[in-house]
Amino acid sequence: MHHIEHIYIDGAFVTPEGEERFDLFNPATGKVIGTVRLADARDAKLAIEAAKRAFVTFSRTSKAERVALLRRMHAAIEAREDDLNEAIIEEYGAPVSRGRWMAKHASSVLLDAAITLEDYSFERRMGSAEVVMQPLGVAGLITPWNSNAGFICGKLAAAIAAGCTAVIKPSEMSALQTRIVMEALHEAGAPAGVFNIVTGRGETVGAEIVGHPDVAKISFTGSTAVGKAIVRAGAETLKRVTLELGGKSPVVILDDADFAQAVPMAIQAGFMNSGQACIAGTRILVPESRMSEFEAVAKQIVAQTIAGNPRDAKTDVGPMVSQKQWDRVQRYIRLGIDEGARLLAGGEGLPDNVSEGWFVKPTIFSDVRNSMAIAREEIFGPVLSVIAYRDEEDAVAIANDTPYGLQAYVMSRDSARASAIASRIDAGRVLINTLTHEPKAPFGGFKQSGIGREYGSFGLEAFLEPKSVLGLHQ
Ligand code: NAD
Repeated sequence: MHHIEHIYIDGAFVTPEGEERFDLFNPATGKVIGTVRLADARDAKLAIEAAKRAFVTFSRTSKAERVALLRRMHAAIEAREDDLNEAIIEEYGAPVSRGRWMAKHASSVLLDAAITLEDYSFERRMGSAEVVMQPLGVAGLITPWNSNAGFICGKLAAAIAAGCTAVIKPSEMSALQTRIVMEALHEAGAPAGVFNIVTGRGETVGAEIVGHPDVAKISFTGSTAVGKAIVRAGAETLKRVTLELGGKSPVVILDDADFAQAVPMAIQAGFMNSGQACIAGTRILVPESRMSEFEAVAKQIVAQTIAGNPRDAKTDVGPMVSQKQWDRVQRYIRLGIDEGARLLAGGEGLPDNVSEGWFVKPTIFSDVRNSMAIAREEIFGPVLSVIAYRDEEDAVAIANDTPYGLQAYVMSRDSARASAIASRIDAGRVLINTLTHEPKAPFGGFKQSGIGREYGSFGLEAFLEPKSVLGLHQ
């Protein structure tokens, strides 16, 4: 049993004022594995005060000092990657290969930010003005459970690079990862108050951070519904916001695609992170003329997709994070059947090979119309919708007929054709015949997938405010 008793404020591990204990689960068994003592609004206030004090000196540190700090943080998280992978598997159920990737990502984002900072110039001449990029102040960083450690490190890295100080509100369901990150970052030796970590509920700790007049900026990753609530609550103090929200990403398979490569890649994009990914490719758009071929290949691939024990290296799809999430995914599978979609693979209930835990059968619906709820709403589980299209015009129209615009995928043998389609899709990132990530490039959503960008120089500037100084160059 794990019992997590501490939060981190002003450079010290402290017992929260809050007294509520929250159960932690292993999603692969559905059993309790420990508890975390939650912070409340009083703790959030103390953390904000500490961050505000620290900002006075930290905002004036040199670029070189902050690069050195980010490099120490990177080394400290890297040294704990095995522990982090273990925690991610235990409390989140990520398949081991995915857990390893997530742990590596948590450390590498710190190094990426150090490199971005080294190359970044905070001053530039524009006409007769000297324009200086200045840190915004105290930043509130709020993360979800589906990649908690990676988001804590990524957001903190950009805030620190900018010279901001931070109050982090991690997902309360990811307390094992948070503890490791907290210990490692402490060892990296940031000045007291530069980062503070207050694990607690969204309605208490999160709401306090969003409403507090001394917090200048919120960087939030989570659901679109909570993102909108944050904009409303932050309006009173005109918070700067970066919002990374939901998605319903299209995978456009063009009629010239090599199906032996494109179909496995499309399905991998959909089942990524056990389907609990904002960037999951959940709507697969297939040319009518090749639909039967697609279905045959897709069936074969799903038959080889293993959902089960996340510690088994062969596992592709792990459990849903919670009972609530499992129930939600089951409801959507039932809804898809009721809406008249046809099950190509999977369906309701547990996969045949498992008897406990919050596992879902990797599921693909065919004969889906883009107007169906399963094609419009984010399910956040391994449930994919296959939609037929007539021609490229139709494909682009369907791809864009969604309130979301986070990511899109295009599969084709012809890169000029794929690039032309990419230019017409309203999404913050388009992947052509690949599933990679580029840490130097901006990441974020069009439409209701968010506001602002993370990573690289765009991510750094999200924590900066330009100031024009005139009269120096007359
Ligand atoms: P969520 O919105 O329920 O919670 C996210 C975080 O916000 C949690 O820490 C939660 O405690 C906190 N929170 C809740 N209410 C709050 C409030 N009123 N004020 C301040 N904070 C509050 O999301 P989740 O269920 O943890 O994560 C899944 C969602 O995250 C999905 O919709 C997914 O698409 C999205 N997501 C987006 C990205 C992206 O980069 N765009 C990445 C991962 C996940």
